[in-house]
Amino acid sequence: MREQLRTIQENAEQELAIVSSMQELENVRIKYLGKKGQLTQVLRGMGSLSPEERPAIGQLANEIRSYIERKLEDTKKMLIQKEKMQRLQQESIDVTMPGKRRSMGKKHPLSIVLDEIKDIFIGMGFQIAEGPEVELDYYNFEALNIPKNHPARDEQDTFYINENIVLRTQTSPVQIRTMEKHKPPIRIISPGRVYRSDAVDATHSPIFHQIEGLVVDKGVTMGNLKGTLEVFAKRLYGEQTKVRFRPHHFPFTEPSAEMDVSCFVCGGDGCRVCKGEGWIEILGAGMVHPKVLRICGIDPEEYSGFAFGMGLERIVMKRFGIDDLRLFFENDVRFLKQF
Ligand SMILES: [Zn+2]
Repeated sequence: MREQLRTIQENAEQELAIVSSMQELENVRIKYLGKKGQLTQVLRGMGSLSPEERPAIGQLANEIRSYIERKLEDTKKMLIQKEKMQRLQQESIDVTMPGKRRSMGKKHPLSIVLDEIKDIFIGMGFQIAEGPEVELDYYNFEALNIPKNHPARDEQDTFYINENIVLRTQTSPVQIRTMEKHKPPIRIISPGRVYRSDAVDATHSPIFHQIEGLVVDKGVTMGNLKGTLEVFAKRLYGEQTKVRFRPHHFPFTEPSAEMDVSCFVCGGDGCRVCKGEGWIEILGAGMVHPKVLRICGIDPEEYSGFAFGMGLERIVMKRFGIDDLRLFFENDVRFLKQF
């Protein structure tokens, strides 16, 4: 029996030396220490031993039992450690793997040109003014000398929140708000989103952007207007750019004009971009109507001013040769990443 116990110990030790999983470990435990395990069987057979032999064999059996138990515990610890190492290895980063390319966003073409325009005017001492897009009818129309029945309202049909609140059709209300709040001298541009109830096509959109400017001070003349806008045109399109002013009519300025720049593609010879004319219309301007100044609490006898406004989309389309306004708002990455 002593012999048998030694064999069990040796076999158990050998088997434990090669287990590689928790399941195998458990199998070894059952094989030797389980209810029907080999060691258990031996202990059960002790009844057939003589009373003299029993204590010594009993002691040996118990020693072997705790020896195997200790070995099982050690092996278990070893397996846990090994599994941990394996997991760490699997989860480690392979720096030689090709990375996932994350494509960078780009500035929208409207923002590219708007930022340039802002820089030009800031360089001339202008400040950026902003105002609400949901605007009172008063600021959007009436204070700009466009009363309720004025025909200019037809051209600027917008979205009404109610009778007195509209989505602004122009950024001019920012000029009114600025004049109400600040005493001259005033020198601002107000870029922003505006709305018109227009059906969508290649040249119309219910949403677009305007940039307006306003200068109010003592002794401001049409000469200041022309000089400022000429500098602006040269900075935007290059020193060789020529400008011309054509008389026009706006309700909130008097006199009013539209400004053309010599075509920056053909230089004035005529091409597809300028439709053969050599000139491209880029903005409307004029001397602020005395009535508008008075509405804003500025005395037209003491102060005068000029204002101008341009559509950002039109300028950007001409600049990049874009022929469909809808492209700006569709957010098609293939279009946007070209700029
Ligand atoms: Zn041209």
